[in-house]
Amino acid sequence: MFASLSDRLTSTFKNLRSKGRLSEADIDATIREIRRALLDADVAVSVVRDFTGAVRERALSAEVSGALNPAQQVVKIVHDELVTVLGGTARPLQRAKTGPTVIMLAGLQGAGKTTLAGKLAVHLREQGHTPMLIAADLQRPNAVQQLKIVGERAGVPVYAPHPGNQGEGATPGLSAGDPVAIARAGYETAKARQHDTVIVDTAGRLGVDAELMEQAADIRDAVSPHEILFVIDAMIGQDAVATARAFADGVGFTGVVLSKLDGDARGGAALSVAKVTGQPILFASTGENLTDFEVFHPDRMANRILD
Ligand code: GDP
Repeated sequence: MFASLSDRLTSTFKNLRSKGRLSEADIDATIREIRRALLDADVAVSVVRDFTGAVRERALSAEVSGALNPAQQVVKIVHDELVTVLGGTARPLQRAKTGPTVIMLAGLQGAGKTTLAGKLAVHLREQGHTPMLIAADLQRPNAVQQLKIVGERAGVPVYAPHPGNQGEGATPGLSAGDPVAIARAGYETAKARQHDTVIVDTAGRLGVDAELMEQAADIRDAVSPHEILFVIDAMIGQDAVATARAFADGVGFTGVVLSKLDGDARGGAALSVAKVTGQPILFASTGENLTDFEVFHPDRMANRILD
């Protein structure tokens, strides 16, 4: 992840190091290289435009700091702007004042929602919380079973419908095929059993579609989430922006989770989504194990890119 972007930026800055003062032409040449590196990393065009514009303006106004030479100043400006693009300061999850905190997961099929549900549960439990998972993805035949396995591995209970029967603790008479009813009943069960957090896994499709959005919006309305986390596969590249916008319009979300950051994605999704949607990246998923999970720190990610 980011290897190529990181190499490109680093070598761009290396060329600046030998220079004493930077002329406008030097800065423009640098900006051009940054622009190309970002575009090649699949960062959205609008994000690249804003990013390079901001870097250029600040570099030209030469915020002279005695401690830094001109090349270091440019690196610092690029670092600061990367932090901004990645969402600024990390923020913790918003929690309910009373009753269970509801965290709903949304995203395309295969984005990594079900895996994330387990990772998040482990993370929350380590912080002393008592999460319960709710299987409201009834679209994919194996999704409920997969969440049950994830719950078992994570050591947290899963509220799930049984085909033709009701899940553990389910409300009698509840239709096993209605994800909205499952989400609502799961919430009530978690509340009665004094779980302080529920994580609602929802259905994803291979592409954005209206029915999926409507169902996710209905689940949202049924359980009033404190956080809706949009899970996006970092490998998705240039499609990231359109997909994120579709979910922002269709369901709305309060935070982003980047999954598959362990892959060799070029990083465009990571660098575009927070900026384009105005919602912060809260977590990163970095592998198939439940411990492959990080709280996302824009500052650390910027350091990693410029390392
Ligand atoms: P969902 O359809 O959104 O629920 O996605 P899943 O959680 O089922 O994940 C789809 C596939 O991606 C599964 O094979 C997961 O093991 C895998 N996966 C999920 N998160 C990650 C990750 O961070 N890194 C890697 N390498 N694989 C992941």
